[in-house]
Amino acid sequence: MNPDLRNLIALQDIELKITSLQKQVAEIPSLIQSFEDELRRTRESHEQQVARSKELANRRRALEGDVDLSRSKLSRLKDQLMSVKTNKEYTAMLHEIQIAENQIRSEEDKILEIMEEMEDKEKAIKGSELEMNKKLAELQTGIRETNDSAPRMEAELEKLRQHKVQTESQVGEELLSRYRRIAEARKGVALAEAKDELCSACHVRIRPQMYAELLRTDNIHVCDSCSRILFVRENL
Ligand SMILES: [Zn+2]
Repeated sequence: MNPDLRNLIALQDIELKITSLQKQVAEIPSLIQSFEDELRRTRESHEQQVARSKELANRRRALEGDVDLSRSKLSRLKDQLMSVKTNKEYTAMLHEIQIAENQIRSEEDKILEIMEEMEDKEKAIKGSELEMNKKLAELQTGIRETNDSAPRMEAELEKLRQHKVQTESQVGEELLSRYRRIAEARKGVALAEAKDELCSACHVRIRPQMYAELLRTDNIHVCDSCSRILFVRENL
């Protein structure tokens, strides 16, 4: 293979690695942000459940207070019942007692409902606490690993950049500037493998004569369709 072309292939390989690594480095802040958002959402949803459970406990206490009041009212009414003078008063009093009893029953029903809901809530909270702690630990590991990966990637980038300069210096100036022009126009990919008589980048058929020359000679050819520099991979 043309040694210049071999170096260009190495160069493109390095440059593509640099591009992909730069992209990964650039994505680190938003990756960490998304981990942190998820952390916050997980905590908030748990806190909401706990808050709901507290609210239920408060409502239960308030209702229990109401029941106490209703009960003392009821016993007062029952005492008064003994001392009424007329039939009409007696009927009215019985009616009031009935109302007070209904009230107590309805308050007690509500307390029972709340107790059931509290029981379900507490079970759910216990279950979700385990889940949450597992998830929080995973997210925190994710954040730590992502942060730790940054200096490693930067070091790798530095190595690649040095390697790039070295490789560039081994390619003829004219061919290098041709490579640069094509790379600029073709999203950083200036070389394309010629395989099975096709350009592997744009999948257009290569003229048979050119393909034969590619296989036989060290001459530089470009794809008629995408203008990328063609190369034939050497059998390793
Ligand atoms: Zn092509």
